[in-house]
Amino acid sequence: MIKLFNIRGGIHPDDHKRFSAQQAIESLPMPLLLHVPLQQHIGAIAEPLVQRGDQVKKGQLIARHQGMVSAPVHAPTSGRIMGIGGYPANHSSGLLVRTITLKPDDEDTWADNIQPIDDPLALSPEDIASKVAQAGIVGMGGATFPAAVKLNLHKRYDLHTLVINGAECEPYLTCDDRLMQEHAEAVVDGVLLMAKALKVEKILFAIENNKPQAQKSIAEAAHSHAHFKVVALPTRYPLGSEKHLVQMLMGKETPARGLTADIGAVVHNVSTAYAVHEALREGKPLISRVVTVTGPAIKEARNLRVLIGTPVSHLIQFCGGLTKKEDAVQLISGGPMMGQPLSSTQVPIVKGSNGLLVLNQQPQKAEQACIRCASCVRACPCGLTPLEMAAHIRRGSLDNSVKLGLLDCISCGSCAYVCPANIPLVQYFNYAKGELASRQRVQHKQQETKRLAEARTARIEALKKARQEKMLQRKKEMQQQKQASE
Ligand code: SF4
Ligand code: SF4
Repeated sequence: MIKLFNIRGGIHPDDHKRFSAQQAIESLPMPLLLHVPLQQHIGAIAEPLVQRGDQVKKGQLIARHQGMVSAPVHAPTSGRIMGIGGYPANHSSGLLVRTITLKPDDEDTWADNIQPIDDPLALSPEDIASKVAQAGIVGMGGATFPAAVKLNLHKRYDLHTLVINGAECEPYLTCDDRLMQEHAEAVVDGVLLMAKALKVEKILFAIENNKPQAQKSIAEAAHSHAHFKVVALPTRYPLGSEKHLVQMLMGKETPARGLTADIGAVVHNVSTAYAVHEALREGKPLISRVVTVTGPAIKEARNLRVLIGTPVSHLIQFCGGLTKKEDAVQLISGGPMMGQPLSSTQVPIVKGSNGLLVLNQQPQKAEQACIRCASCVRACPCGLTPLEMAAHIRRGSLDNSVKLGLLDCISCGSCAYVCPANIPLVQYFNYAKGELASRQRVQHKQQETKRLAEARTARIEALKKARQEKMLQRKKEMQQQKQASE
């Protein structure tokens, strides 16, 4: 029995899992076109290796990673490349992101290099991490940080524990729950492979109490591994936040703006573990994922295995369509607390898409004055004072909100959820973080421009100096020649 430690804050919203919790995973039929973005991860955008008109096979590398933090992209099926260009991102910004459009040939033929691996547990930790990197696997709980970078953390940190995040604390989402129930052995295998790559002795697989069948399935699949413990968590939002999860399991706080690796733990998600199993056992890159399609405004809620690049409209159609007209519903990528509103049904499913939530459009509740009830302070899992931070942001004083801990805010939305005055606190914080990030970008650009200008001036000066020295030298030589001839 693992002792659980107290953590501060958190809320208990209705989990709304009933819409899709009983829906077994189904494969979504092939769409007419796939739009595969080159940036589905945190880090540098992948560089395309194909061009319009190329014929590709399923699983073929179509864009390679660039730099240390990046991830490659693979063809989700066989077909023809229709083009590479800007396409709306799976994000509320509606910004265009460089995307490869692929027309499936309906043959679904695997590339020749996709071959099963005999005994991946016999591979070295470095080889496991390298195969995870080659498969383009990223954190599939939504964070999208390249998984191999995290698997290599043992090189810089003293690690002892791998924590698997099976909390799935976001209301409505059930994709991880279904994966744990239906593919427990594959998930456990992926976890064991990650533990080997990380060189850790201890595995804690944390699952909230509202998923009893998943707890049972994982415990059965892992029963022969003494170092593998399934931990039953209370149902509380946002326990899926990795720093809070680790704190509840280990009783230690991650330092501000540090990593859980600072206290010896690395956290990976259930879907990521499944993808690692597929990559290491079958040799398959990350080209599909399980997505929960749910909410009161979709006709049939489902859990679907979806190819990366499938337009959201195709999922909606397969689930019987919307219960209302498109302008009367709200589309969210992810869950209601931390998900991103979507501006169009044409955006594609990406590696980090765990859910498509379709809500009825609600009239905006009027924001009222703060009554200083401190409910937001009690709900905040990070020990912040949301009312004070929001007041500073409203006054345009971002620096003061940073002093109060804005950068430690995980945008979980717990404060806004409990606020009786309907103050959209998390929107203030997201706005402020966006402003700070753009200020930083401008500052960085100015510094870079200054650096380039200084380098240019130094180059010109050096050239001038070299030219003058050459002229002097030439003059000296001419004088010497003249003196010699006299
Ligand atoms: S919960 Fe809302 S009303 Fe209460 S103190 Fe916080 S911001 Fe003010
Ligand atoms: S959104 Fe930020 S301030 Fe609000 S409860 Fe979550 S961590 Fe605290």
